[in-house]
Amino acid sequence: MSKNKRGKALWRMPSRARGTCPVCGSTRIKLLYLGKDPAGKQLAVCKKCDGKQQKAV
Ligand SMILES: [Zn+2]
Repeated sequence: MSKNKRGKALWRMPSRARGTCPVCGSTRIKLLYLGKDPAGKQLAVCKKCDGKQQKAV
């Protein structure tokens, strides 16, 4: 499989994979990692928040 987090693949994603990270609040960052919010709902987070424990902001 090709790289899903780099290059042209990003441009096929909604908003081109960029947005505001719901965890750390960074804007215009790539949201490529799946985490969960406190309610257990899946959400996309940035690489800084990947693997980090998610908490409500
Ligand atoms: Zn983040």
